[in-house]
Amino acid sequence: MVSIRLLSEEIASQIAAGEVVERPASVVKELVENALDAGARSITIEIEEAGRKLIRVADDGQGIPSDELRLAVARHATSKLAAAEDLFRVSTLGFRGEALASIASVSALTLVSQARGEFVGARLRVEGGAMAQGPHPIGAPQGTVATVENLFFNVPARLKFLKTERAERRQIDALVSRYALAYPEVRFRLTHDGREALQSTGSGDRREALIALYGPEAARQMLGLEDRQSLDVSVSGFVSPPALTRNHRREITLFVNGRWVQDQRLIAAVLQAYHTLLMVGQYPLAVILVNLPPEAVDVNVHPAKAEVRFRDPDSVFSAVQKAVRATLLEKAPVQAAIPQPAWGHAGWAENRDRLIDPAWNMGFRPTPRPAEEPGPALPGTGVLEFPLLRVVGQIGAAYVVAEGPDGLYLIDQHAAHERVLYEQFQADRRAEALTSQRLLEPAYVELHPEQASQLESQVDTLAALGFEVEAFGGGAFRVRAIPAMLKDLDPAQALRVLVEDFEEDERPLEAEGEARLIARVCKRAAVKAGQALSLEEQRELVRRLEACQSPRTCPHGRPTMIHLTIDMLARQFSRKG
Ligand code: ADP
Ligand code: MG
Repeated sequence: MVSIRLLSEEIASQIAAGEVVERPASVVKELVENALDAGARSITIEIEEAGRKLIRVADDGQGIPSDELRLAVARHATSKLAAAEDLFRVSTLGFRGEALASIASVSALTLVSQARGEFVGARLRVEGGAMAQGPHPIGAPQGTVATVENLFFNVPARLKFLKTERAERRQIDALVSRYALAYPEVRFRLTHDGREALQSTGSGDRREALIALYGPEAARQMLGLEDRQSLDVSVSGFVSPPALTRNHRREITLFVNGRWVQDQRLIAAVLQAYHTLLMVGQYPLAVILVNLPPEAVDVNVHPAKAEVRFRDPDSVFSAVQKAVRATLLEKAPVQAAIPQPAWGHAGWAENRDRLIDPAWNMGFRPTPRPAEEPGPALPGTGVLEFPLLRVVGQIGAAYVVAEGPDGLYLIDQHAAHERVLYEQFQADRRAEALTSQRLLEPAYVELHPEQASQLESQVDTLAALGFEVEAFGGGAFRVRAIPAMLKDLDPAQALRVLVEDFEEDERPLEAEGEARLIARVCKRAAVKAGQALSLEEQRELVRRLEACQSPRTCPHGRPTMIHLTIDMLARQFSRKG
């Protein structure tokens, strides 16, 4: 028989910690929020090894009185709530009195603080939840320094779930740059292993923080929301013009009363404001700051305080939607606001040449089959894994329908073209036959420091692929040539293709080097879903896919086609038992 037992204090506190401290970025978030609550004007964040080794947050806020230092790391100890009713009008970022205790239970936490008006400060160290040293008096500048070392040293399961260092660093960068934007009057400085990743001046200018978040070009394009006060809700911030988009919604950031929150409904409000202005699968960049009276928001619904509940969600939704919509209508240039479908019927004429012009290097250039490759397979001979197909037509402007000796094939035109371009690119590369397009005028591109360092490490490989790129330092690059395949993109965009929009779990560029870069370039150059193809082009695409070494998957490993065998069809129509 298993009997019911009370959890030991240690296990109970580790479980509780798990809800607040999931990864290094959550520690950074709690410590930065504490510094902001303390009225800091300057917050310095030092990170080592993406936070596993060290996270140090130093502020010049009001500090913690020496005789309260021990209490600060106790669970449910807070200076921010006194009575139960206070919970319904929280105006500080913290209120649960849990963060420091949670962090201390899964790391070695050292707090050094000197409170305003005191002549001496104090230092204390907690390891794995147990008091290790102090509090001892110590001379310190006014404010607080919280140092977290060896995060999760006693919770190996957590350590295992951490992502790559780069992914964890990105989370931290994303967090700090967003707080810098929400608190422009506070000076933020973030370093990774001694290298500066982000710095804001605290001048109060949000545009400056926008640059840290999106880089100078995108920041310049962002539209400031008209600050329109409707009853209780005020909405401010920035949104991108419809021409500036991402293919994911991670760049839609929401702050409610100075707190970074996730809220699907408010994201939907932003998207609704762009209704008909964006192509399918494209999302705007936005930083939306919503302010309303503290009693109109319940912040106590999520342990990490990442979600909130509104007393009147509809009015908040409509305030956000209206503010964004009005800004777009007023400020977004009309032409840019209604994008042409990239390859709708209108733009088709010029693109068709690109598709079928044999001179267009990376298009559907007819290529002779390599001599050593076996000839076309006869039905049933099984020489080629992939038989010759007869194209029937296109459906949904996304899939090509074809018939083979053994049934029906549905081919994803984008994935298939990616595969074709990828093998062509690889073959040309081996034959040293890659062509690059020289720009009439060199283009200058500025990238986010993180992206810049990815790219800098790749300059040689890039050169081999037809990019002529020089790094100037400070995230700036000069581009003199790009691969011919990307010649229709603007050079800045062509370069960005390489470093932008990585999925959470995608590995850094360096990992697979050239093949990875080629795959990224091909993804961008391939026809998209939504582009109508003539029957001739569909045939050409299928013919070239047949000639590929690995026709069944795109370079990213997704299938290029679905095969419905005659047998399956017969079964579906109940012709077979
Ligand atoms: P909470 O922020 O929810 O109150 P924490 O565990 O994060 O809980 O912090 C506990 C208490 O420690 C806070 O209420 C505050 O009094 C004090 N404290 C923590 N960090 C700081 C800081 N950087 N400056 C001043 N006081 C701090
Ligand atoms: Mg706190």
